[in-house]
Amino acid sequence: MGGERHNSAGNAACICCEVTTGVIVPPQGVHNIGSGWSINRALDENAQRPYFVMQTTAHRRDLDELAPGEAEALGRLLPRVTGHLKRLMGADRIHVIYLNDIDHVHLHLVAYFRGDPDNIRGLELVGQAPPGRTITLEKLSSQLMVALQNDPPSTVL
Ligand SMILES: [Zn+2]
Repeated sequence: MGGERHNSAGNAACICCEVTTGVIVPPQGVHNIGSGWSINRALDENAQRPYFVMQTTAHRRDLDELAPGEAEALGRLLPRVTGHLKRLMGADRIHVIYLNDIDHVHLHLVAYFRGDPDNIRGLELVGQAPPGRTITLEKLSSQLMVALQNDPPSTVL
């Protein structure tokens, strides 16, 4: 007993929910991208390259807990988010890693650049500096939001 924090929903402290509720503020803030999803820069201070976390704004432990609108929006949002991130960062690909091991559905979006080693994948890439380039992070989140606003996912179902 003792020491375990709880969020406003009464669950054991969930870092994703703490981001959503503003207890934890990631660099450049949290951006609501609609239909129950938000995106923010990852909290990893040791990251050598930019990467983002896309998560449900509500506490969902597993994909089968997503509301129908959240599940459908994931399919609409993810191609646009990753496409804009590729373009904005000059990345060759965006690796998408689905995780729920901290009891909250979220996806890590990690930029993969031409020249990155082929044998380092997924979250391991985060610890590697991008080859031969410097990426300015200060405006990246706001640029992504502008790009998404100018290219909204279809809401017609
Ligand atoms: Zn949560």
